[in-house]
Amino acid sequence: MSVRLKLIITYFILILLSLVLLISGMIRTTRQMAEDFAESVLAEKSIEDVATAALNTLVDIEYILRHEPALFNDENHMMSVEENVDGMNMALFVESDDVFVYNSHVRSDIKLSTFVDGLDFQNGHGGDTSDSFQSADYSNEDHYYMVLRRDVSTEDQEGFLYFVYEAESKNAMHWSVYGGMYRLIVVILILIVVSMTVMITRLVIKPLNKLEEATDEIRQGNLDFSVKTSRKDEFGRVMNAFDTMRGELKHSIDQQMLYEENRKELIASISHDLKTPITSIKGYVEGIRDGVASDEEKMDKYLEVIYHKSNDLDKLIDDLFLFSKLDLNRLPFDFKTVSAKRFFEDSGDEIRMDATKQGFEVNFSNALSEEMTLCVDQQQFKRVITNIVSNAVKYSLDKKKIDIAVTASESMITMAIRDYGKGIEAEALERIFEKFYRVDQARNMDIGGSGLGLAIAKQIINRHEGSIRAESVLGKGTTIYIEIGRADINHE
Ligand code: ADP
Repeated sequence: MSVRLKLIITYFILILLSLVLLISGMIRTTRQMAEDFAESVLAEKSIEDVATAALNTLVDIEYILRHEPALFNDENHMMSVEENVDGMNMALFVESDDVFVYNSHVRSDIKLSTFVDGLDFQNGHGGDTSDSFQSADYSNEDHYYMVLRRDVSTEDQEGFLYFVYEAESKNAMHWSVYGGMYRLIVVILILIVVSMTVMITRLVIKPLNKLEEATDEIRQGNLDFSVKTSRKDEFGRVMNAFDTMRGELKHSIDQQMLYEENRKELIASISHDLKTPITSIKGYVEGIRDGVASDEEKMDKYLEVIYHKSNDLDKLIDDLFLFSKLDLNRLPFDFKTVSAKRFFEDSGDEIRMDATKQGFEVNFSNALSEEMTLCVDQQQFKRVITNIVSNAVKYSLDKKKIDIAVTASESMITMAIRDYGKGIEAEALERIFEKFYRVDQARNMDIGGSGLGLAIAKQIINRHEGSIRAESVLGKGTTIYIEIGRADINHE
C-alpha cells in the first residue's frame, strides 16, 4: 500500500471519528438543552410549588377521569385546572381514548394533536411504571418542545395527561446554529483533509518520487543531474545527502576514467620514447655489421652515437622508474630538518661546479639567515634543482648564464632559478609540469629530454607540501620558482 493511500485512509478514519464524536456530542447537547430547560422552568418556582401544582393538577385530572369525565368538556373547569401550572411555561393537554378532550388554553398556539403520534416517549427517572412521567422531544424549524406524558388510564378508558414545555427561542436558535455548525465542521474537516493531502504530497511524496527517479538515473549510469534542494527539513537533508553522494560517485568515476586515460597515455608515451632510441641504436649497429662504417673515423662516430643513445635510454628508464614510484607514492622520503641557509649554499656550490664545466656563469644569492630551517629529503630536493638547472642548460641560447636567488618571507622560502634561454610560449607554459610534455617534441628528443624532468620535480615538491611554477618570456628566458614552508615557523 502506498504512503499516499495510507494517509488518505488515515484521514478518512479521522473524519469518521470526528463525525461520530460530533454527532454524539450533539445528541448530548440536545439532552442537555432539555435538562437546562427543565431547570430553567424549575428555577422560577420552588420545588414545593412545582410539586404542589403538579399534584393538584394530577388529583384534579384523576378525579375528573374517574368521576366526572364530562368535566373535560368544561372549558372553564379545565382552564382552572391549567391555572395550577400557570407561570411555569407549561401547557396542559388531556387525551382520552385517542381524542384530545382538552387543549391548552394558555398556549392555544401549540397543536399537540398534530405531532403527538410522531413522538418517541422515553421513560423518565421514575422507572418504567405507569405512575411516572415519560418524556419526548419535538422540534420544527422555529420551536423546540419537551413533552411530558403521564398515563392516567382507568379501567374504562385510556387516558394521557400532557405537559408541554416550549424551549425559549434562544434554545431553538442553538439547535439551528448547531445544524449550521455541523455542516461547517464537515466542510472544515474536508478542507483539512484535502489541504493535508496536498501538503503531504508536496512535502513527502514528491521528494520520494524525485529520489526514486534519481536512483533510476544512477542505475542507468547517468550522474549528470542534481537533486539539491534549499529545503532545511529532514527530506531536504536526505536529498542533499543523496546529491552529495551522487557528486562524490561522479567524481570518483571521473577520476577513475582519468586514471585509465592517463595509464593508456603513459603506456603509449613509454612505448614511443623507448622505441625511438632503440630504432636509432639498431640502425647504427646494422650499419657497422653491414660494413657501412668502413674506416676508423666512421666507426668511432657510430659507436659514439650508440653510446649516447644508450645513455638517453638509460636515463629515460631511470626517470620512468622514478616517476612511476612517485606517482604510486611508493618512493620513501627521508625528511630531515636542516639549516636552510646551509642546504641552499651546498646546492648552489654543486650547481656552480656542474654548470661552469659546461661554460655557464652562475650568480647565486642567498638571503637566508642562520636560524631558518627546512624539513626536506635533501637527495630528492637536490634532484629537483638539478632537473631545473639541466633544463636551463639544455634550452639555453648564446647567453650562458644562470641566476639563482634564495629569499625568505615570514613563513616561506623561495628559490628562483633564472636562465636566459629560448623561453617558453604562454600556452605551453601551463603544461610543462605534465608528464611526457615537451614543447618541441622532435628537437627535445634529440637533446635527450624525457619530458619527465619537471613532472618529477612537481611530484617531489608536492611531497614537501611546497609549490613550483614557471614564468617565461619567449626568446628571453625562463624562471622557475620553488616555494617551501620554513620548518622554524609554526604553520598552523
Ligand atoms: P625534458 O626532459 O623534455 O626537458 P621537462 O619535464 O624537464 O622535460 O620539461 C618539459 C618541457 O618544458 C621541455 O621539453 C621543454 O620543452 C620545456 N622546458 C623546460 N624547461 C625549460 C627552459 N628552462 N627553457 C625552455 N624550455 C623549457
